[in-house]
Amino acid sequence: MLDVIVIGAGPAGVVAALRAADLGARTALITRDEFGGMAANDGPVPVRTLAHAARLIREARQLSLYGIAVSEPALDYTRLLARVREVVNDVRAHSALRGQIDSLGVNVFERAGPARFADPHTVKTQSGMRLQAEKIIICTGGVSRRLSVPGSELTFTHSDAWSLTSVPPSMLVIGGGATGAQVASIFNAFGSRIQLFQAGPRILPTEDEDISAAVAAAFRESGIEVREDFGDIESFEKTPSGVRMTFSKDGARDSAEAALAVVAVGWVANTAGLSLATAGVETDHRGFVRVDGHLRTSAPHVFAAGDITGRLMLVPQAIQDGFVAATNAVRGLTMTLGAQVNPTGSFTDPEYAQVGLTEAKARETRDVVVAVVRFDSTTRTIIDGRTTGFCKLIADRATYKILGCHVVGERAVEITQVAAIAIGAGMRVDDLAQVPLSFPTYAGILGRVAASAARQLNLKVTWQGGQAEMDWWQENSSFRAH
Ligand SMILES: Cc1cc2nc3c(=O)[nH]c(=O)nc-3n(C[C@H](O)[C@H](O)[C@H](O)COP(=O)(O)OP(=O)(O)OC[C@H]3O[C@@H](n4cnc5c(N)ncnc54)[C@H](O)[C@@H]3O)c2cc1C
Repeated sequence: MLDVIVIGAGPAGVVAALRAADLGARTALITRDEFGGMAANDGPVPVRTLAHAARLIREARQLSLYGIAVSEPALDYTRLLARVREVVNDVRAHSALRGQIDSLGVNVFERAGPARFADPHTVKTQSGMRLQAEKIIICTGGVSRRLSVPGSELTFTHSDAWSLTSVPPSMLVIGGGATGAQVASIFNAFGSRIQLFQAGPRILPTEDEDISAAVAAAFRESGIEVREDFGDIESFEKTPSGVRMTFSKDGARDSAEAALAVVAVGWVANTAGLSLATAGVETDHRGFVRVDGHLRTSAPHVFAAGDITGRLMLVPQAIQDGFVAATNAVRGLTMTLGAQVNPTGSFTDPEYAQVGLTEAKARETRDVVVAVVRFDSTTRTIIDGRTTGFCKLIADRATYKILGCHVVGERAVEITQVAAIAIGAGMRVDDLAQVPLSFPTYAGILGRVAASAARQLNLKVTWQGGQAEMDWWQENSSFRAH
C-alpha cells in the first residue's frame, strides 16, 4: 500500500504530489489527461498566448504613431494555434514541475482516463489499474457549466473556442465574468463581431463597480456589443450561417444570431464519476468537495485541493492548497490556510485587476478614503500612448492601511502585484507614498495614488509641499537619485 495517492495533475495535484514525496511519502499521481491540468493545457496558458497575440495586433496598430510604417496586421489563425500548441508543450516540459516530480520518485500515471474510488482506500482507473493508499488527495478541478435549455448542444465553451480552425465572423458570448470577458476581448481583436450577454446588471460583477463600468465602456468603444440584464435564455437553434439564441425579458421575446455561441456561465466541480460516496466524501450545496481549514474532507483520510473545493479558482491558490493538503496528509493536521492576499486580474483589452476589498465592500464595515489617479496624468502611459485607465486605492481612515487597490488599463495586472505586496506587508498609505518607485513606470502610479490618499488623511510625509510637488516627487525621486 502507498502512503499517498493524488488524483489530478493540475497545479494543485502536482504540488500536492511533490510535497508529499518531499516529506518522504511513497506517492502516486494519477491523472485523466495530460500532466499540467487545465492551467497548462486549457486555461491561463493558452488564453494568455492568444491574449498576447491580441496585444501584438494592437501594438502593431500603434506603430504609425511612432513614425514606423507597416501595413495593417493580418492574422493567420492556423499559425497562431500552432504557436499556442508550441507554448503549451513548452510550459508542460519546462515549467510545470515535471522534472522535480520525476526526481522525487513519484509514480506518475498520465492519460490514465478518469479515476474513481473503488473503496475508501482504493483508486481504480478506467483501464482497470488499482492503487491503494493510506491517504488520498482529490485535485480534479472543475469544468465549464453548461446551460440546460433546448439547443444548448449547439453552444461551445472556451475550450472549443481555442480549437476553432478559423476566426468566426461573429460570436455570441454568454456570460460576462472573467472567462467570457477574455473570450470576447480576444476574438474582438481578431476581427469577430462580438455580442456579450450578461444576466446581471454589470459585467465583471466581482470587480469594483468603477472597474466594471470602465471595462464595459472600453469594450463598447472597441465595437463589442455589451448587453447587460438581457433576460432569460429560452433556446438555441441552428441557422444557415450559425446559431440563433432566443431570450425573453419581462414578457418580451428577442433573439440574437452569430456564427457561433460560446457559453461562459460558471464552473462546476469535476466530481462526476469519482464515486465520492464510496469513500464517504461529501460535497457542499454547490457540488464542490466540502473541506475544513486543513483541507480535510468529511472522510478523515481524504483531502482535497484546488478548484474542486470551489473557493478562489486560481492557479496560485491551487498551488497553496496542494502544499497544505499534502502537508496535513503526511504529517497530520499541522497546517491551515492563513489569511491570504489574493490579487486577481484578466488579460483583456483593457486589462483590469484587483486586490483586497472593493469600495462597496470596504464601506460596509469601515470608514474609508478613496483616491484615484487617472492614467492620462502619469508620464509612462503618456510616453507609451496608453492613457486610458485609472488606479483606485481604498484606505482605512482609522488605521491608514491599504484595504484595496483596483486598476484598469495597460499593465493593470502587474501594477496590482505591487499593491498586493503592500497590502500583504500591512503598509500604510504614507509608507507606500514614500517608496521611491522607479520613473517612468506603470507601477509608479501607486506612489501617486498613495500620496493622494495620505493627503486626504492629513498624514505627514517627510517632504512638505503642494500636490504638484509631491506628485512630481513620487514620479521622479529615484530618477533624481541617479
Ligand atoms: C479560460 C480560463 C482562464 C484562466 N486564467 C487564469 C489565470 O489567468 N490565472 C489563474 O491563476 N487562473 C486562471 N484560470 C483558473 C485556473 O486554470 C485554475 O484555477 C487551475 O487550473 C486549478 O487547478 P487545479 O489543480 O485545481 O485543477 P485543474 O488544473 O483543472 O486540474 C485538474 C486535473 O484533474 C484531472 N482529472 C479530472 N477528473 C479526473 C479523474 N476522475 N481522474 C483523474 N484525473 C482527473 C484533469 O485531467 C486535470 O489534470 C483560468 C481558467 C480558465 C478556464
